[in-house]
Amino acid sequence: MAETTPMMKQYYDIKSQYPDAFLFYRVGDFYELFEDDAVKGAQILELTLTHRSNKSENPIPMAGVPHQAVDSYVNTLVEKGYKVALCEQLEDPKQAKGMVKRGIIQLVTPGTMMNEGPNGAKESNYLTSVFSTKSGFGLAYSDLSTGEIFTTHLKSFADVLNELLSLRTKEVVFEGSLSDSQKDVLKKSNITVSTPIQDQEKHAEVSYAIQKLSNQAEKDATKQLVIYLLVTQKRSLAHLQIAKSYEVSQYLQMSHVVQNNLELVASAKTGKKMGSLFWLLDKTNTAMGGRLLKQWLARPLLSISEIEKRQKIVQAMLDNYFTREGVKDALKGVYDLERLTGRIAFGSANARELLQLSRSLDAIPQIQSALFESGDEDLANFAEQIIDLSELAKKIKDTIVENPPILTTDGGLIREGINEQLDRYRDAMNNGKTWLAQLQAQERKATGIENLKIGYNKVFGYFIQVSKGNVAKVPEGRYIRKQTLTGSERYITPELKEHENLILEAENKSTDLEYQIFSDLREYIKTFIPKLQELGNTIASLDALTSFATVAEENNYCRPSFHQDSQEIKVVAGRHPVVEKVLADGNYIPNDIQMADDTSVFLITGPNMSGKSTYMRQMALIAVMAQVGSFVPATEAALPIFDQIFTRIGAADDLISGQSTFMVEMSEANEALQNATKRSLVLFDEIGRGTATYDGMALAGAIVKYLHDKVGAKTLFATHYHELTDMEKTLDHLKNIHVGATQENGKLIFLHKILPGPADQSYGIHVAQLAGLPNKVLREASKMLKRLEAQGANGLEPASLQLDLFSEKNDSEETTSDEAISDTEKQVIEDINNLYLADKTPLEV
Ligand code: ADP
Repeated sequence: MAETTPMMKQYYDIKSQYPDAFLFYRVGDFYELFEDDAVKGAQILELTLTHRSNKSENPIPMAGVPHQAVDSYVNTLVEKGYKVALCEQLEDPKQAKGMVKRGIIQLVTPGTMMNEGPNGAKESNYLTSVFSTKSGFGLAYSDLSTGEIFTTHLKSFADVLNELLSLRTKEVVFEGSLSDSQKDVLKKSNITVSTPIQDQEKHAEVSYAIQKLSNQAEKDATKQLVIYLLVTQKRSLAHLQIAKSYEVSQYLQMSHVVQNNLELVASAKTGKKMGSLFWLLDKTNTAMGGRLLKQWLARPLLSISEIEKRQKIVQAMLDNYFTREGVKDALKGVYDLERLTGRIAFGSANARELLQLSRSLDAIPQIQSALFESGDEDLANFAEQIIDLSELAKKIKDTIVENPPILTTDGGLIREGINEQLDRYRDAMNNGKTWLAQLQAQERKATGIENLKIGYNKVFGYFIQVSKGNVAKVPEGRYIRKQTLTGSERYITPELKEHENLILEAENKSTDLEYQIFSDLREYIKTFIPKLQELGNTIASLDALTSFATVAEENNYCRPSFHQDSQEIKVVAGRHPVVEKVLADGNYIPNDIQMADDTSVFLITGPNMSGKSTYMRQMALIAVMAQVGSFVPATEAALPIFDQIFTRIGAADDLISGQSTFMVEMSEANEALQNATKRSLVLFDEIGRGTATYDGMALAGAIVKYLHDKVGAKTLFATHYHELTDMEKTLDHLKNIHVGATQENGKLIFLHKILPGPADQSYGIHVAQLAGLPNKVLREASKMLKRLEAQGANGLEPASLQLDLFSEKNDSEETTSDEAISDTEKQVIEDINNLYLADKTPLEV
């Protein structure tokens, strides 16, 4: 066994405290990885793997990264879900007695990473903390770069998972036990699970964060979150905000599946912003405005008065073109106040960023006066909320030079006239330099060497340089030779060295003092953090609302109104906002959505590709837009307030992948059946497609009936089971609608127009005709169709209509619906078999 060196001993000591992180161990200009970290790290980061104590029996694997490039290596690892513990030298190795002291200065984890992710500054990175209790879970989350904290409590793990996925959280600090399958889902969702850290000493920060909370689980989750942040970041985090408690039921609820299906913030196909509702609505001019808008889309409001507050500003911005343009212009000069504030609190803001802050604050009065000058009352009221911090801006501007360097430790940051001592050092430096210039002139004269030069390098300090040809003229004794180069010799004199000391001392002291002044300024700004955060928030919402106004004007949207007590939907000439945008101008066919208070189901039929799914999504997007305070793509809209949206929308590839997809389909349907209320919006597209025709149809029929009889949610139900349209005869709150198509010269033309009544069933045969099937086949099909239709009229309707599944007498047995549904299913299938098999025989002859 090779003996462990003191350095490796120190390494193992530290590593043992961070077993689940890559330990980046600083040695001089490098961070070294050892042992398994080195092997794994070399592979992931494409580093050269070497070995320490090569000659011993057990060489230690080792890989290093240069310290200047450490950020990008850390980011790569953390983006892959790993953690990195940064271990620094805590003292100057030159001055250290014995082993250099080292310690962890920060643990970088997926949820605490502060650099911009792949989606840029408009993406939040949330760390979520979950605390299990007997009756449920407390959940808290924070974006470390902005310091905001939100917290809620939830009943089930499914709810927790949904929240994690909606937030796109990358890391969860989880207190409580997780089953293997729960661990599995988290892993599959690329969520790193971290163990809570205990630390009783963080009282002050914790009690600040939880001061407004009353729910114990929320307090516990928030506490756990704050402690985890403080302990991993190893510094005080003055920007952590007071936790805001919310209830998921305070907002329009949509599971993350629904949010994905509706493509609220990302396209379902590409996962990118392009093609999503966010893409369409985001005309914000600041990153914080963009982030807020995205948050809004995930949590539309339920309170009409809150929605109207937003609408008023949108309206006013729409009505006041010059104000809007003025505000937009000014916003372009506002940097990311929230994240700048975070960096200031974190102690990582440099002088350039302080100037960005000051410039941003300077743009605020311009925004404020634009709002006041509009003469609009709502805008004036809004302007009142904006805090003026131009005093702070002035202080920053007066302290920091106009073009400061990125580094804060090398001086050149602070203006003259700010600090007398600094000015004195600078004078000394300047005088020193003048003295050097004089010395050069003087020595040239004395020696007669025309090209004698005074120079400086880090090793020798100041020197006198003489070219080889002139060496003979160098005064013996007075010049001391220091260094020989190919073409010249370098000398020093005692006088030169003396001045050198003065100059260098002044230089050192002045950079130290500059850093001190800079840090003091940063500390001073810290006292403004709550105000800066509030200001950031106000500006973000102004930005988002201005964006709504811009989009509304560009696309001719209208301001929706809401009714409190009725579930009536009235959308005149509505459009799907994204499809409209993507199609060439004027090609989108607007459609009304008029659903009376007592109509709950629209059964939508029509050929494939005619626009059924677009129509349904149009409704959901209009609802979401309306409830976030945006105007909507229609000429008129009066809407109920929806409490939840459910979707069962098949993606194209769903249809191919068979059984498990059918399970997904059924569990999405089940979500809606179990949880929807009268105030919900349900979109079902082609339910039952994933299975054989008859049980699919039977299920579709049974689901429609259940939604109609028991749920009463506003339901848009697209189906290719034409037979279901007969349900209109027996279900009072169901209406058939269809997407029109017409034939021109034997060609099927989609009108994309929604019309009352069921679709003409024979489109399938038209499509077959288009595809060029033999006429004989088409004729035969038409004949069969006629026969089927005639039988339908004779009362052979789909089984589900006759079963009376949910009649009152069955209610008592139907308490837990899991059971009920599978029984129902069996029953339906049986009856269908009886009816339809008998029916089929003559056709097969
Ligand atoms: P379905 O659900 O009936 O199969 P989709 O809703 O997917 O059909 O629509 C198919 C295509 O038709 C869409 O991609 C879109 O380009 C076009 N479309 C749909 N609705 C309209 C409309 N109202 N106006 C113009 N084009 C439309």
